[in-house]
Amino acid sequence: MRVDYHTHTDLCKHADGHLEDYIRHAVSIGLQQIGCSDHAPMPAGFDDEHRMNDEQFGQEYKPDLFALKERYRGTIDVKAGIEADFYPGTEAWTNSFLTATDFDYVIGSVHFLGEWGFDNPVFVHKYDEQDIDVVYQQYYDHIKRSAQAGLFDILGHCDLVKKFGHRPAGDLTAVLREVMSVVKQSGMAVEINTSGLRKPVHEVYPGDAILSLVKELEIPVTIGSDAHTPADVGRDFETAKALAGRYAGGRVSIYTRRERSEVRL
Ligand SMILES: [Zn+2]
Ligand SMILES: [Zn+2]
Repeated sequence: MRVDYHTHTDLCKHADGHLEDYIRHAVSIGLQQIGCSDHAPMPAGFDDEHRMNDEQFGQEYKPDLFALKERYRGTIDVKAGIEADFYPGTEAWTNSFLTATDFDYVIGSVHFLGEWGFDNPVFVHKYDEQDIDVVYQQYYDHIKRSAQAGLFDILGHCDLVKKFGHRPAGDLTAVLREVMSVVKQSGMAVEINTSGLRKPVHEVYPGDAILSLVKELEIPVTIGSDAHTPADVGRDFETAKALAGRYAGGRVSIYTRRERSEVRL
C-alpha cells in the first residue's frame, strides 16, 4: 500500500494549493490513501499568521475535507486528519477542538518552546542565543508530555529540533529511551516524516537513534511527506518505506475515525 499521512494546504498561509490539489496529486502518483492534516487553529488566535483560524476551519477546511472524502470515494481513500500543536496549558481547549470533529486521525506536534516557534526559519537566530543542550532537553520534555496528554494518535516529526542542523553536545541516549517508552505506553504511532530531507539537516525525522528505539519497543509507524505544496505529496516514499521495513517490520499504521490498524507496505 502507498500512503501519505501528512499534508498541508494554503489555509495555513505557508503552503500552496487547495486540499483538492493535494488529493489530485496523490491520485496521479497512485497512492491508495491521502491523509489531509493541515495545522489546526490554536486558542485565542495564537499563531494565526501560520495556520487557519477557527472560522476557516469551520467554514472551509472541515466542510471541504468531508465533501472531498465523499467525492473521491472509490478513487482514493481521503483521510480526515489534522496536525494539532502540543502547547502546555492548552490541553483542555485542544481536547474540545479535536473531539468536536470526526477526524480519522490527529498528528500531535511540538512547534513551540514557550513563545519561540523553533522550526520557523524567521526565528532560527534564537538557537545562537541559548545552550543547545537545554533546547534539546526542553524539546524532549515537551515531546514526552505530548505523548502523556492522551490527545493525539501520531507523534509528528519527533526530532524536529534538529531541523537547522543544531546538535547537542551531551549524550541523549537515556532521555530518548525514557521518552520513547512513554510513547510506547501511549499507544501512539511515530511518524516517519520525509520533509527533513528537504531541510538544512537533510535527514528524515526521526533519525536512527529514535528509530532504533521504535524497533526495540515495537512502536508502530506512519509515513508522511509533510507536503506544503501539492507536488511534494508522496515525496521520498521509497526512503520512508525502506525505513519502515528496517525498523517496523514493513508495517505501517492507517486510521479510520481514530481507530488504528496496520497494513504492509
Ligand atoms: Zn507547516
Ligand atoms: Zn509540523
